[in-house]
Amino acid sequence: MPIDPPARLLMGPGPVNADPRVLRAMSAQLVGQFDPFMTATMNETMELYRGVFRTRNEATLLVDGTSRAGIEAAIVSLVAPGDRVLVPIFGRFGHLLAEIARRAGADVHTREIEWGGVFSVGAIERAIVEVRPALLAIVHGDTSTTVAQPLDELGAICERHGVLFYTDVTASLGGNPFELDAWGVDAATAGLQKCLGGPSGSAPISLSPAAVERIEARKSVEAGIRADGDAVLDEPIRSNYLDLGMILDYWGERRLNHHTEATTMLYGARECARLLLEEGMHVAIERHRLHGSAMLAGVEALGLDVFGDRAHRMHNVVGVHIPDGVDGERVRRALLEDFAIEIGTSFGPLHGRIWRIGTMGVNARRDAVLTTLAALEQVLRAEGHPLTADSGVGAARDVYSETAA
Ligand SMILES: *Cc1c(COP(=O)(O)O)cnc(C)c1O
Repeated sequence: MPIDPPARLLMGPGPVNADPRVLRAMSAQLVGQFDPFMTATMNETMELYRGVFRTRNEATLLVDGTSRAGIEAAIVSLVAPGDRVLVPIFGRFGHLLAEIARRAGADVHTREIEWGGVFSVGAIERAIVEVRPALLAIVHGDTSTTVAQPLDELGAICERHGVLFYTDVTASLGGNPFELDAWGVDAATAGLQKCLGGPSGSAPISLSPAAVERIEARKSVEAGIRADGDAVLDEPIRSNYLDLGMILDYWGERRLNHHTEATTMLYGARECARLLLEEGMHVAIERHRLHGSAMLAGVEALGLDVFGDRAHRMHNVVGVHIPDGVDGERVRRALLEDFAIEIGTSFGPLHGRIWRIGTMGVNARRDAVLTTLAALEQVLRAEGHPLTADSGVGAARDVYSETAA
């Protein structure tokens, strides 16, 4: 039988439904790897993602693989074994950055705070002074906790201390403000399946000239000897597939064959960027803010407690405490079976304690928010949870009518 997935409304922390325009783009025919149309499309996609990341970085491209491939490519290419890496951890994905850096042979130093909060700028600068890392690796929006770490002041601090600054913006890009150049970020990686409205499987990445210089320097390291004859402490990038030096040579002028670019994902990633830029980055971010606020107002009006630091909430996902006496998994199952709506649970210390409800990509829209709130109200009522009729939908509608006014 040909594939025929059920119709679902994906209102979890990602993946979310792909925009139909992205799916159509992904059904386009293939061309050869070095066909002029292919290389022109690669160049065009690089330019589109400069707009999405808000950067002039020449080295803005796609890594083939899910967001994690982008994270791993950045870390394994920027970090040589023995390099000190500082990872401030405020959720699940911070642990992932630390783990990847450890596997790359780095000397990893972590700082941790309780899930739901963010680091102060001062705490990060103190840690930089203590650790003196070669690289700061930090998540922007961590969907596991639904909060976004402020990054706007970290670039200047990193520059002052001679530290490269990498951030994972997979969950935040397109739905929350992110300014790669203005914030002094050296490397940022993303994915398509959150606010970009595409499927997972392509990881947009952007590298500053300083990051490219670091990668180029490692390229000349061969057989343990530097050009000047000194023994090297450095060693070649410990991955072939994720070697950004080689990937840059493939996407750059030289077009040196590395992998075969995943053409269908390129078409999809290109359309994701086109959608965002056509709408306007600021407009798309404001749309995520509006629908996120409506969802937040709705769940609060249902009498549910919201998780995490309010002042640093991501626009595109809200964490909700599962009320005492309510079986969180049974609610999720009823939403899926009776309403075809998916919401998320969480990980680690939050597993079974919070639901995560997303409003992102093509699902950051009014009918998706209102339908989800109406369904959640029905399911909670069936679970015997006391509710005022229509409260969630009503509160969300109030947010919309205030905005229209
Ligand atoms: C969702 C998410 C990812 C996803 O990684 P995949 O490899 O695409 O599954 C990565 N980082 C963060 C911060 C996320 O929220």
